[in-house]
Amino acid sequence: MTRLILATRNAGKLTELHAILADAGLSYDLVGADVYPEVPDTKETGVTFAENALLKAHALAQATGHPAIADDSGLCVDVLNGAPGIFSARWAGRHGDDRANLDLLLAQLADIAPEHRGASFFCAAALALPDGREHVVSGTLPGVLRSAPSGTGGFGYDPILQPDGDSRTCAELSPAEKNAISHRGQAFRALAPILRDLLG
Ligand code: IMP
Repeated sequence: MTRLILATRNAGKLTELHAILADAGLSYDLVGADVYPEVPDTKETGVTFAENALLKAHALAQATGHPAIADDSGLCVDVLNGAPGIFSARWAGRHGDDRANLDLLLAQLADIAPEHRGASFFCAAALALPDGREHVVSGTLPGVLRSAPSGTGGFGYDPILQPDGDSRTCAELSPAEKNAISHRGQAFRALAPILRDLLG
């Protein structure tokens, strides 16, 4: 069975991609990057989501000799001209401090009226083959930013992003509800036909 590596140490992302591939009738030996502890994490030196996803996917495919998928995602706020964008995970300065990132963003937007609080989650997902071939797809989840967090599910900015057409925040959706509409779900689903063509 063809091995496919997902450039993540996040078990949730692996489960999500696994389910999407199964729904598409595709079966691969899907593993996370943690199966290759000797492969160092790739520095995200790109200036777009797509560049960072490609950097990570190519590095893993080259190092392992197997096809690799990587995603890069973040929150893009209209009134901030798309920021935090690729800096979403370290907006408050320290990588991965979700609460500090969210608090800083809320403070920055404190005086912004609801009608100007549009924002979207964006995800680029890249597939790289060991021979250098590559594909990039993307997904987006548009919504509005609340003025205070609500909900306990999810991670990152989920408690403040209310998807268009819903009255709940992403942190109030079940994992299945979020995966069905999420930027990452869309991008991973868009990879399925490409994987079928390239890997069978
Ligand atoms: P990553 O590229 O998946 O590591 O995401 C980078 C950062 O973007 C995360 O640390 C979060 O701050 C934010 N982010 C990406 N996707 C989501 C999401 O689905 N919900 C909430 N925050 C997200």
